[in-house]
Amino acid sequence: MVKLYKKVDNKIQCDLCPNLCKPDNLKFGACNIRKNVDSKIINPYEGIISSSSLDPIEKKPLYHFLPGSKIYSIGFFGCTLKCKFCQNYAISQFAPRAPQAITPEEFVNFLIKNNYKSVAFTYSEPLLYYEWVYKTSKLCKEKGVKTVLVTNGYINPEPANELLNFIDAANIDFKSSKDDFYVEMCSGHLTPVKEFIKIAFNKNVHIELTTLVITDLNDNIEECVEISEFISSLSKDIPYHISKYHPAYKLNKRPTSESTIMEWTMEASLRLNYVYAGNVSFSNDTYCKNCGNILINRDYYTADIKNLNEDGTCRQCLTDNNIILH
Ligand SMILES: [Zn+2]
Repeated sequence: MVKLYKKVDNKIQCDLCPNLCKPDNLKFGACNIRKNVDSKIINPYEGIISSSSLDPIEKKPLYHFLPGSKIYSIGFFGCTLKCKFCQNYAISQFAPRAPQAITPEEFVNFLIKNNYKSVAFTYSEPLLYYEWVYKTSKLCKEKGVKTVLVTNGYINPEPANELLNFIDAANIDFKSSKDDFYVEMCSGHLTPVKEFIKIAFNKNVHIELTTLVITDLNDNIEECVEISEFISSLSKDIPYHISKYHPAYKLNKRPTSESTIMEWTMEASLRLNYVYAGNVSFSNDTYCKNCGNILINRDYYTADIKNLNEDGTCRQCLTDNNIILH
């Protein structure tokens, strides 16, 4: 595993995320999770899980990866970003309270024993628990368990490259097309996120992207144009989720209107083949990009697979619609 810290100007620098914090001895980085202990950066909370649940994979959201399946999902604590609108702030912006830790071996044995075929690292920012997620994902690969990351993509290229060798699919936040938004709302930057998306795509990880559209902050249609242009520069077949905002944490804006979400969905569909709206009342079915045949019928978090061959191609025209069934 890649080393995640080094000495810079007589300080110890954490190399995990683009923040590149240099905490003094026994102090934490900006994430409040990773800590300098005697010139090593460690995670004193390694293996401490905040929550776990067997979720429909549609809830991650992943719409083209094992559709209709349940995925065992676990979360940790902390985040590399500090989004004022965080929808999971109770675990992302606080350190662990429960001392109970589990090792990667124990956890993977638990998955096997319960016959869980896939696992998602989600809820908080899983990349912060890098060592644990890395070891667990590697073990999962050995045992044939599929691995999923739900992440903000805010990590440096070296650790990203190494971890993604053991990841099957990821939903990555694309919070805004503007660096200013990342700076002001999230205490981060846009470029590293785009880099992470490119790395994951080039390593053949199945990726889907999500934007939480927030009233007055990133709801300008120009942002939708820029984001969908970036995605289509990689592939028109990457599923893109446009999600409606509800007030949370330190931000209290009006919930995003469904007409805004509809407008974004239509705009993104000019460049992308699979665009979905999240947290809204209208339908999110998947249609064949070639013949228009319905392939997956969705109702909230249930997915009814129709007209697909075993290899994920359309039964009518044999087109590959970037759907992984097994
Ligand atoms: Zn077709």
